[in-house]
Amino acid sequence: MNAWTRQHCVCTEVRNLDYEEAAAALKIKVQWLKDHICELPHQKFGHNPAVFCHCDLRLIQAMNAQVPPKALNLLNPPAEQAAPNPAKTPAAPDYRAARPAKGRARKAVAQV
Ligand SMILES: [Zn+2]
Repeated sequence: MNAWTRQHCVCTEVRNLDYEEAAAALKIKVQWLKDHICELPHQKFGHNPAVFCHCDLRLIQAMNAQVPPKALNLLNPPAEQAAPNPAKTPAAPDYRAARPAKGRARKAVAQV
């Protein structure tokens, strides 16, 4: 992983978490993080153990989110349900009708 693959990271300061802190934040077992580290976003500095920023944790969370189809339909309704009902949608007013046809007459400005 390098800077170009860390597009998900929006950290403005370094506040990395070790395995134990990351597992505690995610409420999961440390061993699960260690077992799946190759599949998870993280940072690795040489021979040091991997570290995680909160952006990594958010991505791990999203990777493992379980959204049942019924909930997914609520989030992303099918196109026919997402289209607004034309009978209930008020038409946009035509402002050209409210404008005077000839415009305003200009008044002469008195010269001082
Ligand atoms: Zn980050």
